[in-house]
Amino acid sequence: MLNVVKNLIFPNVCVNCESILDVNYDLCDQCNKTVNFLTEHYCNVCGAVIANNIDTCGKCIFNPPQFKILRSAFAYNQHSKSMILRFKFFDNLNYVKVFAKWMYNMNKDIFKDSEIIIPMPLHRLRLLKRKYNQAALLAKEVSRLSNRYYAPFIIKRLRNTQPQSGLSLKERERNLKNAFDVCNKKIIKDKIIILVDDVVTTSASVRSCSQEIINSGAREVRVLTLARTINTAST
Ligand SMILES: [Zn+2]
Ligand SMILES: [Zn+2]
Repeated sequence: MLNVVKNLIFPNVCVNCESILDVNYDLCDQCNKTVNFLTEHYCNVCGAVIANNIDTCGKCIFNPPQFKILRSAFAYNQHSKSMILRFKFFDNLNYVKVFAKWMYNMNKDIFKDSEIIIPMPLHRLRLLKRKYNQAALLAKEVSRLSNRYYAPFIIKRLRNTQPQSGLSLKERERNLKNAFDVCNKKIIKDKIIILVDDVVTTSASVRSCSQEIINSGAREVRVLTLARTINTAST
């Protein structure tokens, strides 16, 4: 009876289209077909979808990133866009648990020997504008699921970097130079770090942040994001 009442007040809805679901699923049938979960064959470094007969994409071979591995739950495309935008800009935080569950359950292997979960930091001015750091909400929930130490204040974003879209890779790199600072090097020393972000497009930011973490003494950085673009270059 209690459950019936609860369902009337807080109906279980699809996290993508918000249609009401009878059963306790995260997505309706329709959205389950359109949200592109990244379960295909992917590059063992950056997670880009690649041909079956190779393990590592050309970009990671010729321009290896500073992180060891990058994994995401689903592709950022026209079907998942609204879900991400609602989460990022309209304070729809109800879905953090579902998103973090997807991120963790699909990528449990990358948590092996890791100890610390760090969210990609937002500059304080952008944080004021947005109210929440979505990456931090995801990271906190992922740390709960994986039973790893959650460390949100170890890295600071020093400069409020310009939005990256429309910039070339070189410009992005220049834009991000010295953008991050590790405030507590002792905690991360020789540790394997899981760096969590919401959406990765070019990976310029996670590369730059990973570099700073490695320079500050960590053993390895692995990146876990909710979504990623799969058609644009991943480096
Ligand atoms: Zn739906
Ligand atoms: Zn790659």
